[in-house]
Amino acid sequence: MSCTKVRKVQGNDCFQRINFLYQISKQTVEINPALSSHYGNLIINLAKKNVLKIHPDIKRQICKKCKCVLNNKSSTVKLRTKNKSKYIQKICKTCGTRKNFPADKNKDYKVWLEKPDGVIEVIKAAE
Ligand SMILES: [Zn+2]
Repeated sequence: MSCTKVRKVQGNDCFQRINFLYQISKQTVEINPALSSHYGNLIINLAKKNVLKIHPDIKRQICKKCKCVLNNKSSTVKLRTKNKSKYIQKICKTCGTRKNFPADKNKDYKVWLEKPDGVIEVIKAAE
């Protein structure tokens, strides 16, 4: 392990790197979930280290346990109803972790089910 002092990285640089890692993670998840997890971990660590907020669109596509990208192939999506409110449940096929998202807002619901896989995410800088 190297102990070089961490260079202060410009926010933009980091966002670009996170975006890049996210693209790779997304592309590798179907072939090699473990590799996708590795990139997911790098994203989380990079964000933590630089105190950055990961764009919610990306954050919710990363499994909170194994950190691999959750897409149509690597996770099971279910629409559930609890106490009259709908929510979307994503189950990671790699580690079995369930993630719930409220589906009350029609907009969010649409985003989930209609977003094509190939869309390149844009990371927005935290306000
Ligand atoms: Zn997982």
